[in-house]
Amino acid sequence: MLTISKFGGTSLKDSAMFLHVTGLVKREPARRGVVVSAPGRRFAEDQKVTDLLYACHRLREEGGDWQAVFSQISARFREIVRQSGAFVNIEAELDSLKARIEAGVTEDFLASRGEYFSALILASLLDYQFLDSARWLRFDAKGQVDTVRSYGLLRSLATRPFVTPGFYGALPGGEVHVFPRGGSDISASLVAAALDADLCENWTDVDGVLMADPRLLPEAKPVRHLTYSELAELTAVGTQVLHEGAVRPLRLGAIPLNIRNTFSPEAAGTLITPDLPKDCRRNTLLCLTGKRHMALVSLETEKEGALGKALDEASVTSDRLTSALGRQTAVIPSDSVQPVVEQLSSHPGRLSLQDGVALVAAVVAREEEEGPLAADLLTALKEQNIPLYAIFRPFGGHTLTLAVPDGDFLPALQALHKTAG
Ligand code: ASP
Repeated sequence: MLTISKFGGTSLKDSAMFLHVTGLVKREPARRGVVVSAPGRRFAEDQKVTDLLYACHRLREEGGDWQAVFSQISARFREIVRQSGAFVNIEAELDSLKARIEAGVTEDFLASRGEYFSALILASLLDYQFLDSARWLRFDAKGQVDTVRSYGLLRSLATRPFVTPGFYGALPGGEVHVFPRGGSDISASLVAAALDADLCENWTDVDGVLMADPRLLPEAKPVRHLTYSELAELTAVGTQVLHEGAVRPLRLGAIPLNIRNTFSPEAAGTLITPDLPKDCRRNTLLCLTGKRHMALVSLETEKEGALGKALDEASVTSDRLTSALGRQTAVIPSDSVQPVVEQLSSHPGRLSLQDGVALVAAVVAREEEEGPLAADLLTALKEQNIPLYAIFRPFGGHTLTLAVPDGDFLPALQALHKTAG
């Protein structure tokens, strides 16, 4: 059994968290591959180490006081090393980095040093091999990951339990190249896929995927189990879980992903698998999300694709576009109504418009599972006297999208959430 465990910035924000993570990894012998982010914020006004590194580079380029920012970065790593008891010659590392900055470094190289130091420190605490990701994660000249090469290199280098930095790799010429922000998740998925791991763990600061955005619904509970296809629909309706670049290698390798909370490791988190385990029992209502400030446009016409064409010509992207029984309907942002109406002004078809609409997307499981069915969700809205303007549900999909008045957005989410029991 091989588990790849990725720890995000809040999970490694200070020395106490480095020690906590060391204990977590050691608790499970399968955790033999670890991927780390740079230390994150310790308190609300604090700065992430990666942000400081970018600021340091900008100041160096502009001739500003980069040394002051470098001192802040150094202080954070010195403190982590001293307080955790890691066996890392941090002074030599910091001196050599300072000399490189003085000589002129690329932005990517400097930005990557947070992950590099995190990995050095955690490898020492765990007594695992430190495996620099510049040695195995290879990008092509266009900055795309060369998976064949990277997987081969990692397989030959990872001969014993290891810690590798997330977020960066090397270009064909050897220069360090970083992923977009938050890219350590992508690194972890690549490690898991390269080594054909049995499980990839993503340790963060929430109890997994929540049923709804907790800022909207503080009572939202974590979803225990999801399939990769449900996850894709969650992402399509705007739920931020993981970057698509991080999901793809896992989905292709059929590797389960467990999203866990470093601050409550006893919680099971969310497990995402290609298929549901046979004995899995869960609620049919998986997730709720939505969008506000939308409008519905509907065109009664026999002319196929007329509405889609008008939207294209007005350069408006629609959320849902359906066509049935001589009526074409689309959901568009409220601020795009004007150009669409102008585009259709000379069209002979009958145009109807409803502005001030919110879309509520309910991602639902197969109907034979336990919990509310589509009809129960509609009843819940009716009981709250929430008008329903339109319903969209693709055949075979998991997402039921309901168009309701914008002012009823929150009551609709609350009413639907209650049906889950
Ligand atoms: N440290 C990088 C960032 O802040 C990458 C990551 O944490 O995934 O974006």
